[in-house]
Amino acid sequence: MQKHRKLSRREFVKASAASIATIPLLSILGEQAWSAERISESHPTAVALGYVHDGEKVDASQNPTFKADQRCDNCVQYVATSDGWGTCNIFPGFEVAGPGWCKVWVIKA
Ligand code: SF4
Repeated sequence: MQKHRKLSRREFVKASAASIATIPLLSILGEQAWSAERISESHPTAVALGYVHDGEKVDASQNPTFKADQRCDNCVQYVATSDGWGTCNIFPGFEVAGPGWCKVWVIKA
């Protein structure tokens, strides 16, 4: 038969304080685990693929396949995260801008 020991008031207060103190720490760690760095337009892969944060700034003369309705947020590689940014399989570990664009854009099915 199992015996249950009663928690003293002091033990209860200590345990509660420790639990409350860990909440902000877990919140910070969780945020870091989910947030990715936003890609820079000067990143070598971004330059090679003509990536820009704002599709309206695409140089159509340099990118003849570009169409005005092509945006990262309607590309098959894009998964929205927050604030108009999202992850992209072409840039692992980075976020790209929803209104952005690059040369490997493919419509999301
Ligand atoms: S592959 Fe798609 S989502 Fe990724 S940067 Fe290019 S256009 Fe944007």
